[in-house]
Amino acid sequence: MIDLVPPGRTDVLCLGAHPDDIEVGCGGALLSLAERPGTTLTGVVLTGEGTRRDEAEAALPQFFPGASVEVLGLPDGRLPAHWAEAKEALESVAGRHRPTVIFAPRPDDAHQDHRLVGQLVTTVWRDALVLHYEIPKWDGDLTRMTHYVPLSEERAHRKVELLNKSFPSQVHRDWWDDDFFLGLMRLRGAEIRSRHAEAYIASKVRLDLGPGGAT
Ligand SMILES: [Zn+2]
Repeated sequence: MIDLVPPGRTDVLCLGAHPDDIEVGCGGALLSLAERPGTTLTGVVLTGEGTRRDEAEAALPQFFPGASVEVLGLPDGRLPAHWAEAKEALESVAGRHRPTVIFAPRPDDAHQDHRLVGQLVTTVWRDALVLHYEIPKWDGDLTRMTHYVPLSEERAHRKVELLNKSFPSQVHRDWWDDDFFLGLMRLRGAEIRSRHAEAYIASKVRLDLGPGGAT
């Protein structure tokens, strides 16, 4: 196994269908990126109103100090019926942000809102590394992943601590607890011989293997 390291300045864009998608899907990676000099982070959440909007706006800067967050306020659970608005909203974000790395839900996620964002992202941004994150859930749609971010024991626990602190409106859900999040990170860690990890599917990866190869 080899480690791939993004070169130089990295502008990261995180897309979520709902408040908490981003932090659940890639919160550990964001804690790591926060320690990388020359990294910027913008979060865009397509749905969320009231308390959930407030939580989304406050959460991301906890994981990545200085992160900016936009909550677009489209209808939760109904994104496919608002395909044109979602596409337009993302095109508008693309007019303002040319990221080098994008985190987004999986295009085959069992939740229709996640799936829509995961499918739109590669039609809107064609020159970024897109890493599709996973969101564990009742539907049981876990699958084989391609790219992993190893996480120390401490960082994995920090992620869960911040999730609990950042989303008080969600902690009552029957599936939401420390074991749920730590278990998935432990499982993904075992797949790369690390204690914990987050796993992603890369939609397309370009490898520059040396002088003379790139055009
Ligand atoms: Zn969600």
